[in-house]
Amino acid sequence: TSFGYKEVKVEEKETLVGEVFKRVAGSYDIMNDVMSGGLHRLWKDRLIEVLRPAPGSLHLDVAGGTGDVAFRVLESMRLQEKSCLNVSGKGSVIVFDINAAMLDEGRKRASARGIAQDSMQWIEGNAERLPFDDNSIDSYTISFGLRNCTHIDVVLRDAYRVLKPGGRFLCMEFSHVHDPFLQQLYDIHSFHIIPAMGQAIAGDRESYQYLVESIRKFPTQEKLSQMMASAGMRNVSYENLVGGVVAIHSGFKL
Ligand code: SAM
Repeated sequence: TSFGYKEVKVEEKETLVGEVFKRVAGSYDIMNDVMSGGLHRLWKDRLIEVLRPAPGSLHLDVAGGTGDVAFRVLESMRLQEKSCLNVSGKGSVIVFDINAAMLDEGRKRASARGIAQDSMQWIEGNAERLPFDDNSIDSYTISFGLRNCTHIDVVLRDAYRVLKPGGRFLCMEFSHVHDPFLQQLYDIHSFHIIPAMGQAIAGDRESYQYLVESIRKFPTQEKLSQMMASAGMRNVSYENLVGGVVAIHSGFKL
């Protein structure tokens, strides 16, 4: 049976997304590499370059899955901490995700990397209801996660709430391509190649079909910028990668 995603009711979306990521958790990292041709690594590196996480700070990576972004943030903090003389305390990262199976994969990866336990926390929950105090987080990322959330406006408002004044919000997400030629290539990739690869490699065409369809429904760069501003964020901007296949959105709590 098809997910029939277009007909799915809002209240069913969380269950659906939960099922998808539970199924793909074990093969998630390899599939990311295969389907993006390794590009997601460059995109995540770019995200960290834009973020420049402050040494000694507390970073929250929402929809953090298996920790890809969190590991990079931590690495970047540690590099800076080594070269800074007056940093009081070590920075740390919270990986926050709705799916326990994804977090379990992440914990395994963290221990395989020998990451100190006090550097990272893995917390399960919904991005719409963060279990953190107001004004408690220095920086917030959500990478390829916002499109899976049921109420984007609620996620943005809660992100704003937990950020400290001066704190930064960054969202990296598949977005919208304007160039018609690139659009055609992208359509072929997403509607034919991705579901076929999902079937061949993970034996799961439907989950990857869902991922493709969720990208279509995601707000345009302009619309998401407006939503961020409505949530209270300031100095809102975005950067397109590969002509808008991916966009990095930035906003501050001032
Ligand atoms: N951020 C990681 C990355 O860039 O590789 C993982 C992205 S993965 C495509 C999307 C993640 O969003 C999944 O781990 C899923 O469990 C999580 N997710 C979906 N809905 C969520 C929600 N409402 N709150 C928190 N996490 C959610």
